[in-house]
Amino acid sequence: MLVSQILKSKSDDGVVTLPPGTIISRVAEVLSARRIGAVVISPDGKKLAGIVSERDIVREIGRRGASCLNENVDTIMTAKVVACARADNANDVLQKMTDGRFRHIPVLEGDELIGLISIGDVVKARLSELHMENDALEGMIKGF
Ligand code: AMP
Repeated sequence: MLVSQILKSKSDDGVVTLPPGTIISRVAEVLSARRIGAVVISPDGKKLAGIVSERDIVREIGRRGASCLNENVDTIMTAKVVACARADNANDVLQKMTDGRFRHIPVLEGDELIGLISIGDVVKARLSELHMENDALEGMIKGF
């Protein structure tokens, strides 16, 4: 299965982004309102400046207390983002996520952001593929 197929299967293929300089409490508000686990930090919705996940926020609150919520997201985001391309294989993407211990990966075309997939999207797509394979095998065995 390819990343492009996973993107197509998502009900909402838009990526939630916020510009550099956003305060952390605003990021938390967006994560909560949109029911997502990570936001891409981008000046224009296309160029990738970083990624910030709920883990970054919780870690910082644990370290320094809630006062960090008034600070700039640039201080806690991951600037060295691992990304993938539409034509990448889902298993390779899953491997990247496992090796890097993260659950979100932006999809780029050239330097432009075109989507984001989570580990949940990959697992869901893989499960439906397994169900289809299972049904096909069952059909062959039963002679349908
Ligand atoms: P996550 O598991 O996605 O909530 O993120 C765990 C940690 O990895 C956080 O510090 C994120 O900022 C970072 N992170 C999330 N996605 C990526 C990515 N695609 N590339 C690099 N780091 C990431």
